[in-house]
Amino acid sequence: MIFDEGVRWEMLKPAEFLERRAVKPVVYLPMGLCEPHGHIAPFGLDTIEADWLCDQAARRFGGIVAPTMAYHIHEAGYHGPWLEEVMGTVNPLLAALPPHLLLETLLYQFRAFRNAGFRAVVVVSGHHGSQKDLRMVADAFADKFPIQHFVRTDPELVAGQFTGDHAGRYELSQLLAIRPDLVDMTRAARVDTDPLGRFAQNPDVTMATAEEGAAILGASLVAIGNAVSAFTFNDDEFSHICFDAIEPLAAELNARKKHWATLNVA
Ligand SMILES: [Zn+2]
Repeated sequence: MIFDEGVRWEMLKPAEFLERRAVKPVVYLPMGLCEPHGHIAPFGLDTIEADWLCDQAARRFGGIVAPTMAYHIHEAGYHGPWLEEVMGTVNPLLAALPPHLLLETLLYQFRAFRNAGFRAVVVVSGHHGSQKDLRMVADAFADKFPIQHFVRTDPELVAGQFTGDHAGRYELSQLLAIRPDLVDMTRAARVDTDPLGRFAQNPDVTMATAEEGAAILGASLVAIGNAVSAFTFNDDEFSHICFDAIEPLAAELNARKKHWATLNVA
């Protein structure tokens, strides 16, 4: 990934950080992971897409992009049977975290964002399925420490216009628009001959086009732009939140574990 250095928290110096934050105190958190995306695409497709959307959004609508969260929930709950379906017994070469670690981390990420003076958080997850729990965390944090937030997975951004998929036409179209150099469509037929089998590749993947990808990404950015323009800002001072203040919130969320979408199979 080639980051937009002018909007990335880790690449900004303090003067430019404060300048950007003063204009638009919005922080974007890209989320993704490494998981199988067929023979034609790299493991980090979800991350690459989320990074791209956040960089573009910050450039167009203002704000700063937080360090990417490149590990995500997998294997647990409904992910287990899904893996079995698309991978069989093949090693998926995953970089996954269990829900409790990911969700608690997100809680502390919100703390970091608020302490760093942001007044609104945009979370864009390129990995679909965990959205209910991500929003549960955002809501729980904002109830206690008010902050505006917009938390979506990528297919949610374009709901009603495009249908999300996994390693198929929808996802590969976007990667073709962002990083065509990382796609090798000549490998699509390997699903029939390779010992790795399908490797989670979707049968319609060869229908992907960069044009469709650009349309999907454009619609996604419109949705993010609308969310950012709905945020309102004032000069209220926020007091610092210490680590200890988050612990009861984390405990409360953990106590509701049996209701977490990411732990349920259905
Ligand atoms: Zn994906």
